[in-house]
Amino acid sequence: MISGETRLAAVIGRPIRHSLSPVILNAAFDAAGLDWRFVALDVAPGDGAAAIRATRTLGLGGLSVTMPHKADAHDAVDETTAVAAELGAVNCVFWRGDRLVGDNTDGAGFLDALAEDPGIDVAGLRCVVVGAGGAGRAVVRALGAAGAIEVAVVNRSPEPAHRAAALAGAVGRVGAPQDAAGADLVVNATPLGMGLVAGEPLPLDPALLREGQVVADLIYHPRVTPLLAAAADRGARTTGGLGMLVHQAAHAFARWTGADAPVAAMAAAARDELDRRVTDR
Ligand code: NAP
Repeated sequence: MISGETRLAAVIGRPIRHSLSPVILNAAFDAAGLDWRFVALDVAPGDGAAAIRATRTLGLGGLSVTMPHKADAHDAVDETTAVAAELGAVNCVFWRGDRLVGDNTDGAGFLDALAEDPGIDVAGLRCVVVGAGGAGRAVVRALGAAGAIEVAVVNRSPEPAHRAAALAGAVGRVGAPQDAAGADLVVNATPLGMGLVAGEPLPLDPALLREGQVVADLIYHPRVTPLLAAAADRGARTTGGLGMLVHQAAHAFARWTGADAPVAAMAAAARDELDRRVTDR
C-alpha cells in the first residue's frame, strides 16, 4: 500500500517504457519488505541535469540513469565515485548525507553475474571485449581492475577502442577479432544480436570459439542471442546479459536502502517478465 511514508526511486531515460528496472526493483522492495516503489520516467535528451536537480527537490530515495543521460548525470551530481569518474558516466545516483553521489554499477554487476553463472573469477584470464560503447567501457574497466591478465578491445571504430582499452590499464590493448581464438572469456558489448535489423551479422565469427571458453553477451533480450547459440554449439560455456542487469540493479538497491539486495527475487522477476514479453509477441 502506497502511503505518505512510501519512498520513491526512479529510472530516467528515453526510450524508457520497455525498461525492466521497475519490475526488478519493485520485486526487490517487496522481497525485502521495504516501503519503497520504483517508476520509469521518460526524460527528454538534454534534460538529464534537470532530472538530477529534481531528485533533490522531490526527495527521491535514489535514481537510476540510462541512455541518453549518463554523461549529463555525471556532470550534475555533487560528487562521483572513482569508477563513475573514470568512465565519465553515471548509472546510479544515491545519497551520502545531503550530497548526491553518482556511481556506475555496470562493471560490478557484470563481474557479480559471471561469479554467479557460470561461476568464474576473471583474475588471471585473457579477455576479449567486442564493442567499446558505454557498456563495453564499463566491462573493460572492471576486467582490468579485477585482475584479468589481458583485455583486448575489438571495435568497428578505432578511436573508441583505444579509449576503452586505456580503461583496463596496463593489461588493456586494442585487439582484432582473431584474438578471440586465444581468449578465456569473450564478451559481446555491441547491440548485434538484438534483432534490430534484418540480416544482422554476428559480432564475431563463431569459428573462433571453442570448448574451454566462456562467451558472455550483454544483450538480455533475447535471452539466447545468435552468438550464444553458435558459441554453445562449439562447446563454449555461455551466459546472457540478464545477470548483469539484475546485479547492477542489486548494487543500486544496496546504495539506496543500505540493505542487502534480494538478488534471487530480482532475477526471478526479470526472467518472468522477459518470458511474458516473448509470449505476448
Ligand atoms: P553504445 O554505447 O551505443 O555502444 C555500442 C557499441 O557497439 C559501439 O562500440 C559500437 O561501435 C558497436 N556497434 C554498434 N552497432 C554495430 C554494428 N552494426 N557493427 C559493429 N559494431 C557495432 O551501446 P551500449 O550502451 O554500450 O550497449 C551495448 C549493448 O549492451 C546493447 O545491446 C545493450 O542492450 C547492452 N547492455 C546490457 C546491459 C546489461 O545490464 N546486461 C547494460 C548496458 C548495455 P562504434 O564505436 O563503431 O559505433
